[in-house]
Amino acid sequence: ALAMEPKQIQAALDRAYEKYKGLKEGANADYIPVLAKVDSNIYGIALVTPDGKVYTAGDVKSEVSIQSISKVFTAAKVMEQSGPDQIFGTIGVDATGMRFNSIVSIEMSKQAFGGPEMNPLVNPGAIAATSMVKGNSRDDIFNTILSFYSDFAGRKLTVNQEVFKSESDTNQRNQAIGMLMYAYGYIKDNPQQATDIYTEQCSVSVNAKDLATMAGTLANGGLNPVTQKAVMKPDNVPKLLAVMATAGLYDDSGKWLWRTGLPGKSGVGGGIIAVSPGKFGIAVISPPLDEAGNSVRAQKAIADISNALGGNPYAIM
Ligand code: GLN
Repeated sequence: ALAMEPKQIQAALDRAYEKYKGLKEGANADYIPVLAKVDSNIYGIALVTPDGKVYTAGDVKSEVSIQSISKVFTAAKVMEQSGPDQIFGTIGVDATGMRFNSIVSIEMSKQAFGGPEMNPLVNPGAIAATSMVKGNSRDDIFNTILSFYSDFAGRKLTVNQEVFKSESDTNQRNQAIGMLMYAYGYIKDNPQQATDIYTEQCSVSVNAKDLATMAGTLANGGLNPVTQKAVMKPDNVPKLLAVMATAGLYDDSGKWLWRTGLPGKSGVGGGIIAVSPGKFGIAVISPPLDEAGNSVRAQKAIADISNALGGNPYAIM
């Protein structure tokens, strides 16, 4: 547990909030047209500890689309339904070293070229993971995913239909990725449906507190510390965290691990979650992104707060 007084934790959040409030680096994602219109000033921080306490700073009411952070929780669902080997043995758990929507990484991959495996946190692996979620119909599969995310967040989440429509109209690249993944046998059937469900899962609307509770559930071995619901098997959590450490911030995952030691996951909506096992889950939302597609303020704020609280699991405090 955190050897920290609640006052010290709150002070760390407040400090990071003030320090980066005026920062004007980065830009909203605009390849999904509606994301360009999201207020760039949204800036919220939340931290959840295993004893269920929630700390916040800034704007924790505004919601953004979860985007790639969803990939973590869909991979978790596949592990819960079919066992962790379903991820390890098919998609793989290695970094691609390429951008999140790289098609080259598919062409270089094991099935296609005998090269490296992928992982469920880049688009090809994520769309494949979505295709593995079990259900009786398209809607049944989506609802299974949405209620699983809701269990992590501790409240019923919903889809931002405007984001879903905007991305559906412009996601030809992801459709191509789904098709290629099918061609190489990573997706067994209905790649169009997999990409469609993936696009909808990326459009789920969340605030900083939702994301921090999701991260806090991972920090607490799969037991939601706020609702006390057992959301995933404790044995699957460290495996999921390993993939986040390897590939959670795309091709900047190594830099992120260097700075924080924390498994994390970013999304182009501007959110980042990070997990300090047994200590806290943290999330920051701020839409402007850097070149790699990671929120500028979120990276800085999480690194400062975690380092102030002794969150790095590799550091002896
Ligand atoms: N829905 C987005 C996409 O597939 C998610 C990408 C991201 O958040 N990095 O392009």
